[in-house]
Parts: sequence; structure tokens; C-alpha cells
Amino acid sequence: MFTVNREEAVLREFNLYPLWQRRVQPAALAEAESSATPAVVEVVAPITADTTITLSPSLPQRELANLDWPALKALVRDCTACKLRAGCTQTVFGVGDEKASWLFVGEGPGADEDAQGEPFVGQAGKLLDNMLMAIKLKRGKDVYIGNIVKCRPPGNRTPEADEIATCFPYLQRQIELIQPKIIVALGKTAATALLGKDATLASLRGRLHDYHGIPLIITYHPAYLLRTLTDKAKAWQDLCLAVKTMEG
Ligand code: URA
Repeated sequence: MFTVNREEAVLREFNLYPLWQRRVQPAALAEAESSATPAVVEVVAPITADTTITLSPSLPQRELANLDWPALKALVRDCTACKLRAGCTQTVFGVGDEKASWLFVGEGPGADEDAQGEPFVGQAGKLLDNMLMAIKLKRGKDVYIGNIVKCRPPGNRTPEADEIATCFPYLQRQIELIQPKIIVALGKTAATALLGKDATLASLRGRLHDYHGIPLIITYHPAYLLRTLTDKAKAWQDLCLAVKTMEG
């Protein structure tokens, strides 16, 4: 459990300090943290590989379930299963501790990630690193970061349903290999792909979900938070909920 002093420090790290100074007083902050306790644990029907995900006919119908890390990485590196690959520089597999307790899932690579081959290395990535720091985590240290699609959509548009459906089995296999203790979905695309149902981010965040028995927390995408500073406090609540869930 964080103390208020600790809260103040991490809010500064999370780039929330000006907001905290202006609007969020300690009492409100304490209330926000306590309200993040899950009153109701909603278990949403999980996606299963054979029922809800239809592999694109062009994706080799090989058994992903048996692939180890090197084989999976090679398969993703060489993947041309959907139309995204033709427009990007390289696939962006994921990064971090391959036995991490924490898995953060974004939407798909942007321009910086496409150039560098690593998720969340641009401005949104800097904010994600601050969000990690705020809950005493660090990229690569018990943390794995991945995306719903491995190729940059043109102009950073939202990935289309067929692209998500084609790419999602790769993330499923990554999750099987990592066996995280918690998954944090960053933004609506990650949330709805992992849940297998469409809903607004606002209706999904703030409570605990389930992905195949793994606690799933849903929060705002860092790129959205860069544009909408007022929702950073809600993201902070979601991170507190994730920490509490991990603390058991
Ligand atoms: N946004 C994402 O969703 N993923 C990245 O890797 C970078 C930006």
C-alpha cells in the first residue's frame, strides 16, 4: 500500500503532479485509491483460439500451441499473413522479461516502434515508462510489453478486425509462454481484443476482468492520456487496482 508521501512522489513521476497540485488533494486521492478496490469481479467469457479467432487463410495453419520463443519470433518476423506487413518496415514482436509477472498490451506499433522494432519507444512509450515507474516497475524487469498487432497500421490508424484476428494468435501464444500474473490492456483495441467483445473503454476500466484465468486490468492508452490529461487520474486508479490485485 502506498503512503500519501509516496503517492506524491509517484504522481510527479507519472507526470500527474501539476494535476495533483491543482485539483487532487490528498483526501480525494485516498478516496480514489480506496474506490479502486474491486467491489464486483466480473468474469467475461474469454476468447478461445478455436472458437472466436478465425485465422486468415494465408496464415500458415501450423500449430502455434507448440512453438517456443525462437520459433514464435521467427514466425512473426517472417509473417505476411495480413495486409499490414506490406506497409511497415518490420514486425514488432514484443519486449521484456519472458517470464514476467506483468504483461502490458498496446494496440500496435507506431512510427517510432516501426523504425526501432520495439514496442512503446515514442512519446506514448515515455509515458508508459513513467506509469511503470509510478508502480515501482521497470521495462524489462518482471514486465513484458506487447501489442495486439505486430505491424504498424498505415498512418497509425486503428487495426481492422481482420488484421486483429490474424495477428491475435501470436499474442495468445506469447501469453501462454510468459504466463503473466496480470495483464494490463492499454486502450480500447487491446481491451476488446482480449475480452472478445466490443465496449467503450470508459465502461470497461476501473474493474477487474479475466483473460483465461489471468486477472485483466483495462486502462487508457498512453497516447490518449498524452492528449487528455484529465483522465490520467483515472489511469492512476486503474494502476492502483492492478497493484492491489497483485498484492492479493
Ligand atoms: N502504441 C501502441 O499501442 N503500441 C506501441 O508499441 C506504440 C504505441
